[in-house]
Amino acid sequence: MKPTHIEHIGIAVKSLDESIPYFENLLGTKCYSVEEVKEQKVKTAFFMIGQTKLELLESTDPEGPIGKFLEKKGEGIHHLAFAFEDVSAALKDAEEKGTQLIDKVSRKGAEGLNIGFLHPKSTHGVLMEFCSK
Ligand code: ZN
Repeated sequence: MKPTHIEHIGIAVKSLDESIPYFENLLGTKCYSVEEVKEQKVKTAFFMIGQTKLELLESTDPEGPIGKFLEKKGEGIHHLAFAFEDVSAALKDAEEKGTQLIDKVSRKGAEGLNIGFLHPKSTHGVLMEFCSK
């Protein structure tokens, strides 16, 4: 089971209002979408870099996953997302290879993707997201 590409890189930020103009200016690329994902207690902003995106993540609740991450580690890279043809098969495959999953079953994420997270405890400290269309 091979990923087709890196779908996006998730970066936790304190403020989208501050970070969007910064990355637009730095990369010369407009943010093309801002979306709130209520279940995850985040607001996301996307930039297209080739076939890979940057996903900026702002917390909407200090008790949410990004709120807790910012509290513990501050701003920075939060997760790497890998695109697969079939996320359910990819998650099952990872589990069979001894990986601890956060999401045993995929769910809806930003941009209408089907997503599932792998636990960083079993991926050498990297929070990995598997996704498919
Ligand atoms: Zn993501």
